Amino acid sequence: MPETNKKNMLRTLVSTLPSVTFERSQALGDLGIHTVADLIKHLPSRYETHHGSMTIEHADTLLGEKERMNELATIETTIVSIKPGWRRGKRSRIEATAEDATGTIQINWFNQPWVAKSLHPDMRVRLHGSLSRHKNILQMNNPRWEEIDEGDELELIEGDLRPVYPANEGAPSTQIARLIEHVYEEAIEEIEDHLPEALRQELFIPELASAYKLAHKPTTADEAKSGRRRIAFDELFLLQLGVMVKRHHRRDVMHAPKLKWSEEIKIRIAKRIPFTLTEAQDRVIEEIASDMTTSTPMNRLLQGDVGSGKTVVALHAMLMAVTCDAQAALMAPTELLAEQHYLTIVQLLEGANVTCALLTSSLTTGERKKIVAAIAAGEIDIVIGTHALLTQDVIFSNIAIAITDEQHRFGVQQRALLRNKSDDENAIPHTLVMTATPIPRTLSLTIFGDLDVSTINCMPPGRSPITTKLVQPEDSDKVYSYVKSLVKKGQQSYVVVPLVEDTESGLKSAVDHAAFLQSGFLRGCNVEVVHGRMKSVERERTMQLFREGKVDVLVATTVIEVGVDVPNATIMVIEHADRFGLAQLHQLRGRVGRGSLPGVCALIASPTTDDAIQRLEAIVETTDGFRIAERDLEIRGPGELFGAKQSGIAPFRVARLPRDFELLRLAREIATTWVQRDPLIAESPLLKARLMKAYGETLGLGDVA
Ligand code: ADP
Ligand code: MG
Repeated sequence: MPETNKKNMLRTLVSTLPSVTFERSQALGDLGIHTVADLIKHLPSRYETHHGSMTIEHADTLLGEKERMNELATIETTIVSIKPGWRRGKRSRIEATAEDATGTIQINWFNQPWVAKSLHPDMRVRLHGSLSRHKNILQMNNPRWEEIDEGDELELIEGDLRPVYPANEGAPSTQIARLIEHVYEEAIEEIEDHLPEALRQELFIPELASAYKLAHKPTTADEAKSGRRRIAFDELFLLQLGVMVKRHHRRDVMHAPKLKWSEEIKIRIAKRIPFTLTEAQDRVIEEIASDMTTSTPMNRLLQGDVGSGKTVVALHAMLMAVTCDAQAALMAPTELLAEQHYLTIVQLLEGANVTCALLTSSLTTGERKKIVAAIAAGEIDIVIGTHALLTQDVIFSNIAIAITDEQHRFGVQQRALLRNKSDDENAIPHTLVMTATPIPRTLSLTIFGDLDVSTINCMPPGRSPITTKLVQPEDSDKVYSYVKSLVKKGQQSYVVVPLVEDTESGLKSAVDHAAFLQSGFLRGCNVEVVHGRMKSVERERTMQLFREGKVDVLVATTVIEVGVDVPNATIMVIEHADRFGLAQLHQLRGRVGRGSLPGVCALIASPTTDDAIQRLEAIVETTDGFRIAERDLEIRGPGELFGAKQSGIAPFRVARLPRDFELLRLAREIATTWVQRDPLIAESPLLKARLMKAYGETLGLGDVA
């Protein structure tokens, strides 16, 4: 290559590399590989021990009397014949015979029908797979294979480890390896390191270029590990750095109203609350208050299981603002919950000189305008609403605290969008996020790394235990006759179904199921429906009737999963329980057991998938929200960093949690000291550029660094 092109290897499009066909470049594109840099970043998912190629005779001897051999063998051979074995729906078998000078081997490819199109007799292929023997015939099942182009012998591995790359049909691992081999020397020379040498030495991590070399071409397992570790560290470090830059900006550049807190205020609030706060509530209120009495903007997560009493904690924070003539906002994930919060708070504040307003999307334009104007004029002290609060036209006169009741619907992005009229760009409200789904420890250090956490770890007194039972659909009549017997005793029931209206899916819908129960199992009970597509007035009317005990059985979609609080409701039936997420089931179940009577949760399902079985087992096994959050993470896997998806943060390519937890801790430590010393990351322009590229947008670092 001419000298001038040399510096651009990393930016070269893979489609322009020799031997990359249009189809292959498409297939590579599907794997996220467009440039040589992408190719180099495409790391092996694992390594196979490479035995070197052997003759068929040698393979035969190696297998000996065994039926199957676990290690992999490589054989270079010539295809003699190919025939489709059989095909049933998606399942199929292709059978081929191959030979070399020493013998014959049979090859089977299961469920890879496309293989037949790519093979032809007389083709020289290199097979890589495990040997087996069936009816005295030497075999390889589903071997990886590649055509041997004469004169282009593959010298992939100098040692004995062979990388296996994430691949697809059009771009198999061996081809990716070959491409990497091709560009590798030149590409690696262009890789610049963004970490200073001293830091690398301190952490025992290799230079970036050698890390890639070690990952792609290791000679030992330790080398592969060391390369991977460096690259995983970089991923974790960049995220931590972003989080820390943001944290520094919030704490040292931004400011929030300094509020007052005293024993006197506390007593005044206590007079309005019909119960004594639990010790845990007391503690978290103090934690919040101590944040809000400084001008450093609070960024706190309040976690507490369903029913642990977070609302009244939120009320304290809001009243701290009101006491200082500032405003407070509380955002809920659903209209129903916003309405409920509004009612609760208005009731508690009856007769006090505090103005509250409810802002949801079901207001008429006129009503909305009026409320928005009153908010801007500072005539409303406490605004409760849904995400309708986050639209452009809502501008506060003087907001001091923004609270989000997110339950398990974590979305890291939407916060702090509530704003003031003031020209002071650096003024923001304190923020508090409430959740019933605790963040597992491993995740609390990632995207949530900038949150301080308060935990309510005990329940208010007088709560009753909940029994959870899994019931097969054919036994649902027993569940409903139990519901009926409880209704006769004056108790109430929820029945949750997945849909609003029936579709072809065969799943129960709220409307139909209510009619079905009313005319069948629950004849004589008063059955009503609520769902998200109802007008909020109607829904509120039905909810009110349910609260007053005038409705016995409430058939609902998941609109009731959050916050609904009716202590006389003692049994919850969940139809098609396998359709719900673990956190969702936990939330739903939290609607019962809220009074002095024990709660029952009947999950009707016959789960078919592995995940569903695990979810249902977990929910039956424990009522501990912390345990459930951890199980949820285990079942769904770390790929679903929760909240990460909605927040648009790309999952890590190499780092894996919780496996890399120690590395994460290290990355966090290094990021913290770095930002303390150099908050704008001016010391390393390259590091800064990479940080901005990775997280500039998602973490909103644009106006920060
Ligand atoms: P969550 O944490 O799920 O939001 P809530 O704030 O809705 O819980 O509280 C659940 C119920 O417990 C409400 O009816 C509330 O009035 C009641 N409650 C909260 N704190 C206490 C307490 N310390 N003692 C008795 N009841 C309480
Ligand atoms: Mg709540």
